[in-house]
Order: sequence, then C-alpha cells, then structure tokens
Amino acid sequence: MIYWNKEKNVPFISDENGTKLKYISTDIRPVFIEEKYLLFLLFPELGKDVLYKSVWHTSGYNYVVDGINVQDSIYTRFIKADLSYLIAKVKNFVVSNDMLETENKIFSKFIALNRNHYLDLLNNVNDDAEGYPIGAIPFIRLITKKYPNRKTVVSFSGGKDSTVISHLVRSSFGTNKILHINSDTTIEFPSTIKYIKSFMAENEETPFLIESYAEELGVESFFELSKKIGPPSRVKSWCCSIFKTGPLGTAFTHMKEDWLTFYGIRRSESASRNKYLRVSKSPKLEKQRVASPIIDWKDIDVWLYILSEGIDFNVAYRRGFSRVGCWCCPNNSLWSDILMAIYYNEQYMKWFDFLIKFAKQIGKKDADIYVAQGKWKARQGGSGIENKLQSRTTIKCVEENESLRIYDIRKSIIINDLIEFFKPFGQIERAIGVSSKEEFIVLGKKKSELFKISRISKYKLSIEFFESEFSSHFFKANINQTIWSYVECQLRKYQICINCQACKSACPIGAIEVNKSNYRIDEKKCTHCLKCIKHFPKGCLIASSLTVKKSEES
Ligand code: SF4
Ligand code: SF4
Ligand code: SF4
Repeated sequence: MIYWNKEKNVPFISDENGTKLKYISTDIRPVFIEEKYLLFLLFPELGKDVLYKSVWHTSGYNYVVDGINVQDSIYTRFIKADLSYLIAKVKNFVVSNDMLETENKIFSKFIALNRNHYLDLLNNVNDDAEGYPIGAIPFIRLITKKYPNRKTVVSFSGGKDSTVISHLVRSSFGTNKILHINSDTTIEFPSTIKYIKSFMAENEETPFLIESYAEELGVESFFELSKKIGPPSRVKSWCCSIFKTGPLGTAFTHMKEDWLTFYGIRRSESASRNKYLRVSKSPKLEKQRVASPIIDWKDIDVWLYILSEGIDFNVAYRRGFSRVGCWCCPNNSLWSDILMAIYYNEQYMKWFDFLIKFAKQIGKKDADIYVAQGKWKARQGGSGIENKLQSRTTIKCVEENESLRIYDIRKSIIINDLIEFFKPFGQIERAIGVSSKEEFIVLGKKKSELFKISRISKYKLSIEFFESEFSSHFFKANINQTIWSYVECQLRKYQICINCQACKSACPIGAIEVNKSNYRIDEKKCTHCLKCIKHFPKGCLIASSLTVKKSEES
C-alpha cells in the first residue's frame, strides 16, 4: 500500500494497516522532469513550479502532486490538445541543473524513508508461499545452488525490470561475467536500442547475446506479416513467438548446456502473469528453467531499487512510458500510444497509417476511431481478413474410411517438400515400384511400415495407415482421431507455411531449419518426439493466428 508522508513530501510504502498517513493507492511510480513538463503543458494551471514538485503517477491517467490528486485525467486533456504544439515543446525542452538537483533531493528523501522496505525486498530470508526466500538476493543464491549444472543467464529486454534483474544477479554473485541475452524484435523502442548499446559499452565484461530474425525475415517483415495475417492483437500476439521467443529458442537449441534464466517477470503486470510460479520450466523454451526473483515486486519496488542503487535506465521512463516493449505492441496502453505520437512520431505515424489501411481493408467504417481507441488490440484471429492464406487454414478431406483418407490440398503437391512435414512421424522411405516418385512411406521404430502417402493428382493425395503396426509404435494406440489430427496439422503446415521461422524454436533439439523458401527437418537429428506438431494450435502459428471463431465470422 502507498501512503503519503506529509513531512517528507514523498510516498511511503507499507503493508501495515492502521497507519495514520493518507492512503494514496496500491502502487505508484515516480514522475521525472520530462514527464512533469508534459504534465505542465497539459495542466497549465499547475504552474511551471510543478517541475520542482514531488510528482507521482498512481494508475491509469492519474497523478499526485505534493500528495494531492490532480483533478482531471491527462488523457482528457490530451485529446483536446494540439499534438504538433506538444511535439515542438517537448523537443525544445531542456532539463536544467537546478531541476535535476531538486529531483535528486526528492528521490533521496523517498529512498531514506523507505529504507527498511528496500532491505526487506532484498534480504528477507522468510519463505514465500512457494517455499523460497522472499528476499531477491537469498532467492537468487538458493536457486543457483539448486541448479548447479545449468548456465546462469539474465534475460535483458532493456526495460526497467530486466535492468533490476541484471543488477541484482550481478551483485548477488559479485561478478559482471554473467551472460545476458536479448531478442531484438526489430520493432523495439529507439530508446531501448540506445540503452542496450550504452549498457554494453558500460559493462564490457558482461557477455551479451543479441538474437534476431531480422536477417532471416528482413527488417520490414513485421509489417509484411501484419499485412498477410493482420496486426498482432492481445489474444493473438503472433509476433512474440516469431520475433521474441523464436530467436532465443533457436539460440538455446544450439547450446550444449541447459540454462537457468533470471527474468524480471512480475505478477502485478497482468492477470495471466499473476498465475506464474517463481521458478518454473519455460513453457516455450525446453532447455530453460525460469527464475523470477522480483515476481511479487510492485512498480514502486522496482523504482526504489533503481533509485537507491543509482542505476542508469531506459530514457523512455523519464518521458512517462510505464512499460517499454515494441512500438507496435497491442499490449501498450492508450497513454503509451499517445507518448509514442509525441516522442516517436515517425514510428507512430508509420504504424498508425498501416492500421488505418488495415481497418479499411477489413471493412471498418469508422477506421479512425477503430485505430485511435485501440480497438484493433482486441481483434480475434483472422477476423475480416480474406486472402489466400485464410483459405489454407482448413484441410479438406474428401473421402475417408478408418485407415485411408483422401485429401484435396490447396497447394500443388511437391513430394520432396511434403516429405519434410512427415519426418516427425518416422523415417521416410520412398516406395519401390512404378510410381516411386509419387509415393513415400513412413517407417516406425523397427522399420515397420506405418503409413503411405501417395500423390493422386496435382492437388489430391491419399494417406493410408497400416493398422497392425500401431499398437507397438510410439502412438501406443490404434488409428484414432488424434493421429488423423496430427496428420492434418502437418498437411496444413505444408499448405500454409510462409516460412515465418516460428517452427524453428518449436523443436527442442534444433532439427528444424526454416529459411525464406524452405522448411526442412534434419532426419539425422529428429527423434520423432512430435513436439513440433503439438506446439502451436493447428500445428502452425500462422494458421492459428488466422483462425476465426464461428461466433466472430459474421
Ligand atoms: S509487439 Fe508486443 S507482443 Fe509483439 S513481440 Fe513485441 S512485445 Fe511481444
Ligand atoms: S509451419 Fe507455420 S509456424 Fe511453422 S514456420 Fe511455417 S508458417 Fe511458421
Ligand atoms: S520436435 Fe524436432 S525432434 Fe521432435 S519430431 Fe519435431 S523435428 Fe523431430
């Protein structure tokens, strides 16, 4: 809970009920000079003095100045303001030394007042609900001891939470030589790229790995993919699997060791994160065990640490951003979008123009409102998109009996390419005989024949199971719906694959290679675990991102 200490004129963090101090909110974050200036532009009645006051952001669009709530929302003020005026003003604003001195004095008081809370965050050895020490430092040390054979890694996004994790982990071990990893999504905030570069320059001893699919996909590919499958939304954030987890997953699979990765994930960030465990297997990356030392920290705790330790951080926070991710992110708040428009107008306009075009393309009559109010962020799947890809998300079975099915495929059948998608089931053998070029057989563990795939015509193929073999094979079942659904996943992938790269990280041993034109599985590496089939709904990230629920079709 956050209370206001009138004497020191700063927030006081306390979990104790019954304090006589004025209650402010459940969480709070500091407002730096640059954001105070924007506040002054939008609330001129506050006077320029606000630059020297103790200003904090509580939640949504609300601020507290010297302990008193600002009686209007900044969003309401912004929509009445002139954007080009704001852009010109913030561009020419210069932070003076006396402003900085005042800011430092305010933060020094805040740090001193909350010293006990800070020490508790770091050093508390009592157990949390999962049986781990509450304090971040004893937690980090314990977990590292628990997994001595895993390589310690810090996931570093350039946001404030990862800044804290990096500092905490390095301080806990007394060394800078801890590997930091980062995924460059190609749509990172400009300030994040700058911050990471300066972090690397200042911490030369710290090994740093930046992974990206920029080369494989081309730097414009986020926009290209958005054109094909629609912009990412909160429920279908396909970009994370491709641009964020993907490059890291691929890097992991090429490393010998398993990793213990420290993340800055916090439960208070979202409802889904609220369910996370402090230590868990990575749901997306097999070789990774994830540990989250600050999982129960609030925003204010993170800032208390950064300010107490005097650590450099991403300048976007000084401007008022409460989170930094990608500038096209559907998880950004409306306020973040507004700040984008003010501070990174070029990127903002590029994305805004794209979204308007998209909104019109999917038949939104009020495209401006759809975009400005962030309605695109709630989009479900491929709703409204009509293109060739959309029709490839379904597989058409035209004839079936228990062990044989005939499919009409929406992509011309090239056996050599189709084979790749059947390698997960077993070893591939070309059928011997007159039609050998048009057929192949998938073999089970003991070289028994599992099923035969035959090309009937350019777009038609048959799949025939040899039932007797199945009970002894890895399916441990007779031919059933599950097996047919796996087969259809792979046919769908063959049909739709646009080489988005996401499948690469779906294989725990790096057997899948996807480049701009091919999808290949290395049969020498493949263990037929089928994980690449089950990884994405419908087997393919693109297919699942384009799927429209029946209720949304109209
Ligand atoms: S835009 Fe958002 S959802 Fe997509 S990769 Fe970036 S952070 Fe993840
Ligand atoms: S099969 Fe789908 S998810 Fe896999 S690489 Fe191709 S398009 Fe991407
Ligand atoms: S996940 Fe990898 S090893 Fe497993 S079946 Fe697929 S390609 Fe083979």
